[in-house]
Amino acid sequence: MRIANVDGRLKLLVHDGAVDVAAASNGRFDSNPARCFEQFGELRRWADGVDAALEAFAPESAGPPSPAPRQVFGIGLNYVDHAAESGLDLPTAPLVFSKFLSSFAGATANVALPKGSVDWEVEIVVLIGEHARAVAPARAWDVVAGLTVGQDLSERELQWSGPAPQFGLAKSYPGFSPMGPCLVTPDELSDPSDLELGCELNGDSVQRGRSANMVFSVPEVVAYLSGIVSLLPGDVIFTGTPAGVGAGRRPPRFLRPGDVLRSWVEGIGAITQTFVAEPPLEQD
Ligand code: ZN
Repeated sequence: MRIANVDGRLKLLVHDGAVDVAAASNGRFDSNPARCFEQFGELRRWADGVDAALEAFAPESAGPPSPAPRQVFGIGLNYVDHAAESGLDLPTAPLVFSKFLSSFAGATANVALPKGSVDWEVEIVVLIGEHARAVAPARAWDVVAGLTVGQDLSERELQWSGPAPQFGLAKSYPGFSPMGPCLVTPDELSDPSDLELGCELNGDSVQRGRSANMVFSVPEVVAYLSGIVSLLPGDVIFTGTPAGVGAGRRPPRFLRPGDVLRSWVEGIGAITQTFVAEPPLEQD
């Protein structure tokens, strides 16, 4: 199943079109995409037999598939080649931080560049489909609603300032967590544990990797997190980025006004951000 958030309404994607879920189900499912995760199994069973008129679907206009999660996790240094380019040791357990909801954006967005050094990180984003606590790795895919494409945009100066890193804030400026264009359930993907992902900056490929090279796989990350916190339907997990970020280049390359970043994951789709200068902060 593929679903998308179009103007705040839940759509089921069928062939090249979309079905409005609330209308086609006569209100059995809420129109708000944030609510579908509580009824995800039921939605999948309903979606199997759906027969309704199709609307046009423009992937570039889609919002975040889970627009109001209660928890948002990020996993740092989760690809072997990215840890190497960062000059850091591989973590021995998932390195977890949080991102804040106000940084969410959809598949196409203008992102204002704050002062500092803003970098790109293409990532596969996991969306949780049920209440999950202490899940074994072997069952972890069962609690995943689906995957989408994301960018974990990061302001590197704030990230590494001070005596301890500031991952959460440095990765949560407005627009720093764009996602889309749709949620794809794992069964739709030929191998959800080995997907190619990458991004292009102004048309030049800067990152390209495969999720099989994660240090901790999606099932291991879900098992680890659920052993500590209760995962909730709609929760979002950014699963880490492969090599090729701007900070790892010689010389480093950071985002500038006018840059266009396109990020994609095999079998899911692509998102695009255009970077703009930030207006000066209000003074008082
Ligand atoms: Zn990241």
